Amino acid sequence: MSVSTLGVHESVGEVFPVSVFRDALADADPSVRVVDGDPSGCDALVTFAYEEQFLDAGLDWIHSIQAGVDRFPFDDLADRGVALTNSTGIHGDVVGETAVGMMLAFARRLHVHRSNQERGEWRKPAWDDAFSLRRESACVVGLGTLGRGIATRASALGMDVTGVKRTPTPVDGVDRVRPPEDLHEAVANAGFVVLAVPLNPDTEGMISATELAAMREDAYLINVARGPVVDQAALVDALESGAIAGAGLDVFETEPLPADSPLWDREDVIVTPHAAGMNDEYYERVATIVRENLRRLAAGESLTNQVV
Ligand code: NAD
Repeated sequence: MSVSTLGVHESVGEVFPVSVFRDALADADPSVRVVDGDPSGCDALVTFAYEEQFLDAGLDWIHSIQAGVDRFPFDDLADRGVALTNSTGIHGDVVGETAVGMMLAFARRLHVHRSNQERGEWRKPAWDDAFSLRRESACVVGLGTLGRGIATRASALGMDVTGVKRTPTPVDGVDRVRPPEDLHEAVANAGFVVLAVPLNPDTEGMISATELAAMREDAYLINVARGPVVDQAALVDALESGAIAGAGLDVFETEPLPADSPLWDREDVIVTPHAAGMNDEYYERVATIVRENLRRLAAGESLTNQVV
């Protein structure tokens, strides 16, 4: 495969300005062209969105600026010989900070204080509402880039960390690692259950009414992975019945979160707009992966972060 024209799909503008990204690749060998719609004429395409017209545009390689590539049709891409790479490896610090930020907000009641501020209300929490993360526990499900970023930060704050991982080998910052078969027991013992798995047939609905019922009544669910990893109707039920204490949610079954979702109005829920990975260096981090893969292609080496 050789790349003489690299397309940058306008949809990357969801995450960073197209022009800033194009300029970051100005030193790349291929000519870089901004694509609005049909990428025909490009050998490779960097994109946020997936569109069906990508399949028959003669592309050899598509790079997703997201780590999650669940929206891409793996089999169709493989049938047409189109390689797919993703941007895993670049979100551990920022998503780690967001997940731990949500945990800190719940422990220190920052979300409640902010709501009170909006109403101009000076109101202290009940004496036993606020607590310290130092004596709390987190169960981090999935220990890839995100999971490790979350676990090391939770551990640095003194939390006891359990990880759920398909191969239960030791991981830095994780006190014990459990296989997915032990998910129930692992979530049952945690003050915070944090989801950091990709969306795939194994993980879709992984947190259902059963897992939510197994969680402690004073526990919080944090989802920075993908919305459908959680049965959202079951989550709303669990919140309404007090089966869990609250949730920090960056991702949802339907995005943007519909205006009539009951999640918007709950004080025990922090809603963020799929922004856990956003940061001012994002474009440069993606450009680094793309440059490395251009280098590899030129050297006849295999692509990094290849999914298909
Ligand atoms: P990654 O590939 O580095 O890590 C995913 C890990 O999950 C891998 O270690 C994998 O072995 C593990 N895993 C897969 N199935 C599992 C299962 N059934 N049980 C336990 N572990 C399992 O990917 P990443 O960069 O850590 O990202 C993970 C996912 O998080 C992405 O696929 C994406 O959907 C989501 N994500 C969200 C944001 C955001 O802004 N909210 C940002 C980046 C990634």
